Amino acid sequence: MSILDNVSRILSEISPDVTVVAAAKTRTPQEISEAIAAGIFHIGENYVQEAILAKEAVSYPASWHFIGHLQRNKVKDAIKVFDMIQTVDSLRLAREIDKRARNEGLRIPVLIEINSARETQKSGVFPEDARALVEEISSLGNIVIRGLMTMGPFLDSPEEIRPYFRLTRDLYNKLRKLETENADFSILSMGMSDSYQIAIEEGANMVRIGTAIFGPRPDK
Ligand SMILES: *Cc1c(COP(=O)(O)O)cnc(C)c1O
Repeated sequence: MSILDNVSRILSEISPDVTVVAAAKTRTPQEISEAIAAGIFHIGENYVQEAILAKEAVSYPASWHFIGHLQRNKVKDAIKVFDMIQTVDSLRLAREIDKRARNEGLRIPVLIEINSARETQKSGVFPEDARALVEEISSLGNIVIRGLMTMGPFLDSPEEIRPYFRLTRDLYNKLRKLETENADFSILSMGMSDSYQIAIEEGANMVRIGTAIFGPRPDK
């Protein structure tokens, strides 16, 4: 299957209310361009440097999302490249984004990454700590919190991830009701190639799809 066929099939299956982010780690600018030509507008990148090169080489307009683990020493570059940072999970990181954004005269849309299965080695804030983090970040005027993101645990069957998507959806609905300053909750980013249908059933309105668009990764 070509990238064009994959994107066409996925976009025809999914409601237009759900935003598809093409997760583009390790993909070439040519592959990314093919996905955009096929109807994708949002591109997810895990590495700042890779994104800088890709963005230079891709001639189509697109919206670039950071979906990897962001180190604070990369924030200065990241805020210039990305339209949204999906993986904010600490006040330290948020403060650095806010500071760098202020220097550039920007207001950066972010998602709070939830460690929905409370896995110690994973990034993301534990669900029970999310509200406090949102309230702390809401004092930072050069950030706007647009919603939540979760990866969910790696399990054998995508059906087993459902409870973690549901938990993140419930948390999203709670936090959104708080109407916190500098927050405008409307994005719930969850689900990947093998789990996006389940994530959408559980309320995701943004999915991040890599292999189902581009094919298997060489590193897999
Ligand atoms: C790679 C990646 C995806 C997509 O994974 P696939 O299984 O290839 O669809 C989604 N989200 C994040 C954060 C990723 O790193």
